[in-house]
Amino acid sequence: MKVIDNLSVIKHRIQEACEKSNRHIDDVHIIAVTKYVSPERTIEAVEAGVQHIGENRIEGLRNKQQYIENGPKWHFIGSLQTRKVKEVVDHVDYIHSLDRLSLAKEIQKRATKPIPCFVQVNASGEESKHGLAPEEVIPFIKQIQEEKLNHIHIIGLMTMAPFIDDEMVLRDVFRKVKSLQKEIIDLHIEQAPCKELSMGMSNDFEIAIEEGATYIRIGTALVGEDS
Ligand SMILES: *Cc1c(COP(=O)(O)O)cnc(C)c1O
Repeated sequence: MKVIDNLSVIKHRIQEACEKSNRHIDDVHIIAVTKYVSPERTIEAVEAGVQHIGENRIEGLRNKQQYIENGPKWHFIGSLQTRKVKEVVDHVDYIHSLDRLSLAKEIQKRATKPIPCFVQVNASGEESKHGLAPEEVIPFIKQIQEEKLNHIHIIGLMTMAPFIDDEMVLRDVFRKVKSLQKEIIDLHIEQAPCKELSMGMSNDFEIAIEEGATYIRIGTALVGEDS
């Protein structure tokens, strides 16, 4: 399937999810996750009109960037080792995997300007998942504020739901993150406006949108998974 055809199907599904939940389609941004595919396929996505590209490894990100100069915003969505921050921080527009103070401090040290970040939340409690437990998130944000890490701009929360079909479980995970977001917004911390929610992937993005996602991260359903 061509990316442009997949994109049109996905946009249609987004539209339906938005109608169901009384939301506006312009408030939902599609990140094409290109970690499984080639630079050629990534270029095809950009030419189809995709404005956001997500990669979970630095090598993949830098490889794609060689072929695509200006145009899309680049999202780092994978877990980020502290020692790798210096290789990535100047090359990304967003980091989705902020989950510990040591990482925040390294971003602070290496970045030359504020970086829009999502705090990653492990809302399902699965041990295999990265991210802070929900109750750790607000103390973490307050710590960033207290330590004056002004290169960290917390624009939202990111989560990965369990890879299952149980709609109620998925909804529950997304709702938990949404309600945590509201608590953070109510704190009115200048460097943590937290207006965005990065949640929803190929198998669950409609549910995520119905529960408030503003960035959905779509790999398989949009660009496929073979390079
Ligand atoms: C791979 C990946 C995705 C996309 O997954 P699909 O199921 O292929 O849509 C989204 N988010 C993260 C963090 C990923 O690693």
